[in-house]
Amino acid sequence: MIKRNPHFSSLLPNYLFEEIGLRKKAYLERHPEKHLLDLGLGDTTLPLSPVVVRSIQEFAEKMGKKESYKGYGPTSGSVELKRGISERFYAGIVSAEEIFISDGAKCDIGRLQLLFGDDVTVALQDPVYPVYLDGSLLQGVAPQNIFRLPCTPENQFFPDLSLAKGVDVLYFCSPNNPTGAAATHEQLQELVSFAKKEGTLIIFDAAYSCFIQDINLPKSIFEIPGAEEVAIEVNSFSKFAGFTGVRLGWTVVPKELRYPGGESIYQDWIRATDIVFNGPSNLSEAAGKAVLSEEGFKACKEQVATYQKALHEFERLREIPSYTLFAGTNAPYAWIRVEGKSSWDLFDELLNECQIVSVPGAGFGSAGEGFVRLSAFAGVEVVRQACDALLDYASESIIQS
Ligand code: PLP
Repeated sequence: MIKRNPHFSSLLPNYLFEEIGLRKKAYLERHPEKHLLDLGLGDTTLPLSPVVVRSIQEFAEKMGKKESYKGYGPTSGSVELKRGISERFYAGIVSAEEIFISDGAKCDIGRLQLLFGDDVTVALQDPVYPVYLDGSLLQGVAPQNIFRLPCTPENQFFPDLSLAKGVDVLYFCSPNNPTGAAATHEQLQELVSFAKKEGTLIIFDAAYSCFIQDINLPKSIFEIPGAEEVAIEVNSFSKFAGFTGVRLGWTVVPKELRYPGGESIYQDWIRATDIVFNGPSNLSEAAGKAVLSEEGFKACKEQVATYQKALHEFERLREIPSYTLFAGTNAPYAWIRVEGKSSWDLFDELLNECQIVSVPGAGFGSAGEGFVRLSAFAGVEVVRQACDALLDYASESIIQS
């Protein structure tokens, strides 16, 4: 008889977006005349750039002809694309052979978890993208072997690494979803030194690196000397090129990486992906090559700049005395705290008083309690309207009090 994977019972119910949906629906039933400003989005909204669309069309045409049809490609993806990524995103510091093209960062995080088995200890930032935690639990890691590292304004959103002493695997997301915090060179240096000392493997999620505006901040863990001995990096075309639906990402696994017993992690990754993955979609790869072209890269940078313009609107919220706005420059999210209010209280207030949909920070970990995440993916106009509504509401509240 089929037995359920017992680790499903370790997962907490995934009610965050369901609950947001229910509260939105209930509000609209009570106020059918109202229009909601959805700043809860983690998804991109701008269309693909024309050069990418053309490339997909041309490739699809070729796929429809006997003489140019293509089936399976290499599991680790097209060499041309790997070379392009090596040059465009790593200025050559990562070699093409160490880049593995995939169907997205989330999928690769799930596959990376195949490397370690269940007898490992894991550390992760709190709050953070929930996939590292849930994937680890499903992989069979005991809940007591998962250590949460609070990242709050009090520690400038960089965790106290002594809480992760001796852990086997440490997930690190920079720029962070949801806080928007991007680690500095010094902080990543500290992380790499820690990993070397403790024998820890870092899984570095750089899915939002394209949003980093401060030229002094590292976009990759491999900008830190020695990181190739301790880190794997996942990245994605999702946010940079609007490929959340197209699906294309990559993982960097350095050849130097070893388990404590000396076996090659690089070789195991090739083996593991060969078993459970059949390579990225060749249509998506054609689209990815267009992204890396001069025209495509420029267009994607312009898209990012459009989201950044929306992000910039959030700055106006600094005028509201009770609001504290964090980050909001190197990631597409504003992370907001209102002293004395829980995440869900704040969510309800924004919804009921300003018709704004946010994401309660507590849904990303207990250290996210008291915050909400607002997204610039909603676009300049929607973010502007939301800020107007918040400022109006704040000034009315001050007058009444
Ligand atoms: N990593 C982080 C931190 C994310 O927030 C997301 C999606 O929102 C992903 C990875 C997923 O990336 P992909 O679309 O490439 O699977």
